[in-house]
Amino acid sequence: MNARAEKWMHVRSEGLYCAPANCYIDPHAAVERAIITHGHADHARSGHGSVFATPETLAIMRTRYSDISVGGGVPLHYGQRQDLGNGVILWLAPAGHILGSAQAVLEYDGQRVVISGDFKRHPDPTCKPFEIVPCDVFITEATFALPVFQHPPLEEEIHKLIRSMEIFPERSHLVGVYALGKCQRIMLALRSAGYSHPFYVHGALKKLIELYETFGFDFGPWQPVSEISAKERDMLRGKIILCPPSALADRWSRRMPDPLPSMASGWMQIRARVRQRRAEMALIVSDHADWDGLIETALATGAPNVWITHGRVEALQYVLEQHGVNAKALNLIGRDEEAD
Ligand SMILES: [Zn+2]
Ligand SMILES: [Zn+2]
Repeated sequence: MNARAEKWMHVRSEGLYCAPANCYIDPHAAVERAIITHGHADHARSGHGSVFATPETLAIMRTRYSDISVGGGVPLHYGQRQDLGNGVILWLAPAGHILGSAQAVLEYDGQRVVISGDFKRHPDPTCKPFEIVPCDVFITEATFALPVFQHPPLEEEIHKLIRSMEIFPERSHLVGVYALGKCQRIMLALRSAGYSHPFYVHGALKKLIELYETFGFDFGPWQPVSEISAKERDMLRGKIILCPPSALADRWSRRMPDPLPSMASGWMQIRARVRQRRAEMALIVSDHADWDGLIETALATGAPNVWITHGRVEALQYVLEQHGVNAKALNLIGRDEEAD
């Protein structure tokens, strides 16, 4: 019952490998040719020779690493076909995960393999929605592949934050967010909910907010917290301060007036993770598909074969097999689950 694609798609120590194209997908070591699904650090490592990715992902990589020379990056717009040689065609489809995130579609020997990268099905104003691409083999993540993981609508979680600012106008509201994707998604969602004050941001978030602005996103007024003197800090009461998750627990946050720490992550459904982050308020905001999303997506591709890269592999494998899908675990290493 093996897929024919096993003859040309392999797992090597560097990561998932397409042999006839001599090309890796999201390798965790520097390689000659890499397809990069999106800019998160556990997928987009530095030091590759050529990189096939969306223009947005290349821009993110250039912002984070200085060694992606312009010559080494091959920008591919969604749907644009690229001949990788030896009869392999590559094109990218939206993954709905973060700005520029893509599924890698590889066609060879009459077969189509889709590597989803990280993806989600919930709406996100910072990126194009996930597109179903019918295929023979669907390669999926399984970060939140347990029935307990059901992600609420973003608006509900944003409403919690806004309610809290009404109830505790004397407290500065710290929101822990990852710099790439989560930060910008929360900012736009707060604007849609009518929040009109400037955002105050930790310095570590500045570069990527500015990069999104070059792609046309309008976050309204925002300002680095570092520009606010100790004397003026009282103005932060009842306002939103965005910071990286690590800053919630360190001295930086204690300089804010009466801080109320919250954390935006898919893991906030788990109490122990909330405590671990020292968050008083949990905002369940995930950039990954939840349990239903993973199953629906894998089935919607119509793929008779599903390969699962990492995460809670067994539960997903079991359910897909119940649906007659031939599902197997790839056990890829080097994916950072925390950084959703
Ligand atoms: Zn990611
Ligand atoms: Zn990832």
